Amino acid sequence: MVIVMKPGAREEDLREVIARVEALGYQAHVIRGTTRSVVAAVGDERGKARLQALEALAGVQSVVPILQPFKLASRETRAARTVVRVGSLEIGGDRLHVMAGPCSVESEEQLLTVARAVREAGATILRGGAFKPRTSPYAFQGLAEDGLKLLAAAREATGLKVVTEVLNPRDLDVVARYTDILQVGARNVQNFALLKEVGEIGKPVLLKRGMSTTIQEYLMSAEYILSAGNTNVILCERGIRTFETATRFTLDLNAVPVLQKLTHLPIIVDPSHGTGHWEYVPALAKAAVAVGADGLMIEVHPKPEEALSDGIQSLKPARFAHLMSDLQTVAKAVGRYL
Ligand code: PEP
Ligand code: MN
Repeated sequence: MVIVMKPGAREEDLREVIARVEALGYQAHVIRGTTRSVVAAVGDERGKARLQALEALAGVQSVVPILQPFKLASRETRAARTVVRVGSLEIGGDRLHVMAGPCSVESEEQLLTVARAVREAGATILRGGAFKPRTSPYAFQGLAEDGLKLLAAAREATGLKVVTEVLNPRDLDVVARYTDILQVGARNVQNFALLKEVGEIGKPVLLKRGMSTTIQEYLMSAEYILSAGNTNVILCERGIRTFETATRFTLDLNAVPVLQKLTHLPIIVDPSHGTGHWEYVPALAKAAVAVGADGLMIEVHPKPEEALSDGIQSLKPARFAHLMSDLQTVAKAVGRYL
């Protein structure tokens, strides 16, 4: 249920509502809007009638049910779009943000070369995996903490923010120490233990859609993070499994407007994993901006032919720079900028 406060309700009226909601055994999530606040009461729906009675309290305008199962992620509880702040960057605002860098952090030289090139081209966030989820246990698994240190050094050298994946709750402290955004990968989208833990720290989370998760399941995963108290969730469409084998995945661009209708959370698109081939990345990156994405994640490698992971889908720095310049035109056409 959502308890909608009257515009101009007093702070003490709001406190009274929160206390009553909690006394009834619900979690109270306060969402402060520009004209009014709402309190989302999250918990067992069976006590609905008792929550309904809170309509009698001073400062309360109405008590209405939330119909979607993803209550905090739903636009029913928050009509205004969420802007996730990463230092001075705002993800979900008019400016689009591009997260670019190698699939895996491989060496200081590789990372610094890419970091400088993508910053020069206009990216604001450096991506790079230090803990890699690989299909084969014999494939390169990442440099672990050494990789995180290289990411921190690249941030120092370039001023870019950093996004990197956390694979399991055991590594959360160390990854959080070095990164600006915690990435939860496609294979972990329903790792509920991990979602709860990243929800307990305030750091922004980039939650990738699983390759076989429906949009509803995906938003329920976001709900795990939100309900644990972390409101800084960025969604990322990265391609789903279909019958098609000509591309690695099928980038589901439908998901962007559908998610925008259902949730207030910002949404970025990853055309690198979404197509699995560098040749298709520019076209899908442009399409993602045209369809309304708040940003992009793109793999870039100075020597894709020597990459330890995902070389085939990585752009060379010069192609990336070219794409960034093309994206300006598309962004402008949809009222955004880079
Ligand atoms: C990645 O970003 O390198 C990655 C492993 O992505 P995904 O989880 O989408 O496969
Ligand atoms: Mn990759």
